[in-house]
Amino acid sequence: MLKIEKLNAWYASSHILQDVDLTVGQGEVVALLGRNGAGKTTTLKSIMGLLDRTSGSITFKGQNLIGRPAHARFAQGLAYVPEERRIVSGLSVLENIRLGIVASPLKAREAEVIDQIAQTFPRLKERLNQNAVTMSGGEQQMLAIARAIAAGPDMILLDEPSEGIMPILVDEMFELFNTLKQDGKTILLVEQNVELALGIADRVYILDQGEIVYTSTARALLDDPAMQERYCAV
Ligand code: ATP
Repeated sequence: MLKIEKLNAWYASSHILQDVDLTVGQGEVVALLGRNGAGKTTTLKSIMGLLDRTSGSITFKGQNLIGRPAHARFAQGLAYVPEERRIVSGLSVLENIRLGIVASPLKAREAEVIDQIAQTFPRLKERLNQNAVTMSGGEQQMLAIARAIAAGPDMILLDEPSEGIMPILVDEMFELFNTLKQDGKTILLVEQNVELALGIADRVYILDQGEIVYTSTARALLDDPAMQERYCAV
């Protein structure tokens, strides 16, 4: 579904990603791991078209993404849940969810989509009319995920969804990811919590200083604590 070849990315003159190769198959959950500053967020932003300077090839569902703006990539079926969530202040939970639908192909079925989202996220259902930014960090993260799913994407890019969130909500969130996986959604997951990531991922890549230094099945990395310690310890 997603194929990245020789991806390079720069911030001004800093060369951050170096010849990154990565693939994600349809229905796969792939984890992208590595220490702080390894380049994980930069990879997701490059896929989404949010960086000024990249080179290499990125294809999604067989189509070239390079040179296409972020909104076009979204329209092609890519959703991105950034680490900072970007919940819109002053809007209710419902209005934030609507933002996910308004530019998507599901626009004509908005009421039905909102109903489905409410069923999938009981925590949000109880709070649909609440000002979204008055919710807890974990609830806001759930909302960011709900807004992304509401657009009906084929693939979801998740950046550190468990970051700073209380354990009970993290468990709820990963149960939800498991359901999405069972429903056949394709996911690229950036996660600091290696145990959580390996619990859901089919395959993993490890980035170190902007380069892919390891790739394997999640099972193989689970059985290799030395590798986890070397590249994934915070
Ligand atoms: P973290 O878990 O800390 O978010 P990461 O693996 O996602 O780590 P990135 O955020 O991709 O890492 O950062 C990779 C490198 O790029 C780091 O050295 C970081 O300082 C640098 N960087 C990130 N954003 C910018 C920016 N806007 N301008 C300049 N350098 C940046």
